[in-house]
Amino acid sequence: MDCIFCKIVDQQIPADIVLEDDQLIAFRDINPQAPTHLLIVPRRHIATLNDLDSDDSALISHLCLTAIRLAGELGIADSGYRLVWNCNAQGGQDVFHIHLHLFGGRNMHWPPG
Ligand code: 5GP
Ligand code: ZN
Repeated sequence: MDCIFCKIVDQQIPADIVLEDDQLIAFRDINPQAPTHLLIVPRRHIATLNDLDSDDSALISHLCLTAIRLAGELGIADSGYRLVWNCNAQGGQDVFHIHLHLFGGRNMHWPPG
């Protein structure tokens, strides 16, 4: 399978990793859209959010709570941050291995473009 995030998980290609554990890896986006822009990625390949089911609730909770903890450790919890999941074409998904974006360090626009 030709998946860029599986290759990062498997250390076949490098990434600026900020945290990893047995379930996930968090690294800096190669094309950051904010001063802080991390991707929180499950080690397991899951193509889109539509492929999740109730068995994945602990994993998704762990991804979200890790993003929130990283926001605190990176000093953006009080100033504010945004968590984003993109799904499929109209959702803006380019990499088909689910990932949670953590953006911070600047004012975010609402509604998103
Ligand atoms: P999506 O549009 O799928 O929600 O977001 C994919 C993100 O992955 C984009 O923000 C893009 O910059 C990032 N990305 C794509 N390829 C790589 C890579 O090889 N390394 C890193 N660190 N980020 C990547
Ligand atoms: Zn993958």
